Amino acid sequence: MLLVYSMDISFEEDERTLTMIDPLYGDSFVTSQSNEDEQVVDENGPHTEQQAVEGSKSAEKNKDEILKKLEAAFSQLTDVKDLENYLALHSRMRVIVSINKLLELSTHTCALEIGGKVCGEVLCVTQDVTSIGSRVEIIRKCKNGHSQKWVSSEILGAKHNSDFYLNDYLLAAAIIISGNNYSKFALLCKALGLSIISSNTFTRFQKHCAAPVISDVWNKMNGLIVNILKQYEEICLCGDGRNDSPGHSARYCVYTLMEHATKVVVDMAVVDKRETGGNSVTMEKEGLRRLLEKMATVLPFSEITTDASSSIMKLVHEIKGIYITAVSNKYNGVV
Ligand SMILES: [Zn+2]
Repeated sequence: MLLVYSMDISFEEDERTLTMIDPLYGDSFVTSQSNEDEQVVDENGPHTEQQAVEGSKSAEKNKDEILKKLEAAFSQLTDVKDLENYLALHSRMRVIVSINKLLELSTHTCALEIGGKVCGEVLCVTQDVTSIGSRVEIIRKCKNGHSQKWVSSEILGAKHNSDFYLNDYLLAAAIIISGNNYSKFALLCKALGLSIISSNTFTRFQKHCAAPVISDVWNKMNGLIVNILKQYEEICLCGDGRNDSPGHSARYCVYTLMEHATKVVVDMAVVDKRETGGNSVTMEKEGLRRLLEKMATVLPFSEITTDASSSIMKLVHEIKGIYITAVSNKYNGVV
């Protein structure tokens, strides 16, 4: 791919955005612009005026010196010699444990029965402590050599001879339900020293357990909402779209429709930028179009309140015309 200099900001933004959608499309876009705006860099590197000059104060030429100065300055700022006790405390591993499981540790004697008689010797914690996922396993032994494994989480179920632990799956569910994302939550736990499930475990849970259940419940709930609202007239729907990030770099748009009086979410649509030809600006309009077309057949409404942009108003007029004509034709026996 060609290296580009003298590139204006808007072009760079467009090129970056389009490349994210489809590498082929992005490349063709760059190629088509290259004849007018680009300067191809030769194999000898950047322009001659950028080459090192002795005694230069250029930040780029003195990069190593700047980094050394910053490192020296930061080493004083972040000196932790007087915080060793706190650092030792911070470095200790933490786990999530339910109180009921914690209380099991208050039992200090071996409960193993041998020949109808309980051992009863004192249990001592060994150094055998293992942290797996969001749980910890501790081995305790009595002086008769009996060992007892304590696990910080209850077992939810078992499959193929492996146990599924409650805290692992509650944690994954809690991240999703609270609208969080794994990487941000994992960063928090890393700062806290809290042992949690891996990214792969979370992704598997999200894909195979959470997403199907959420989808199923939402579909049933959506059906119930529509069935109840259908019994009423003069329904006013309010709609707005929200992109996953601001500006042209947005990839997804969620358009939500809400019933005005009850504030109940009637339906929602997720639009991917690839579905609108790589144009993030028209994602919102596309989301509204899908929902209005669906609502026109499943939930007759009398008002829609949404953005006052000209493209949205045009869309609403078009859809209104199509469905009013269709209903009129039906009553006239045309359709
Ligand atoms: Zn024992």
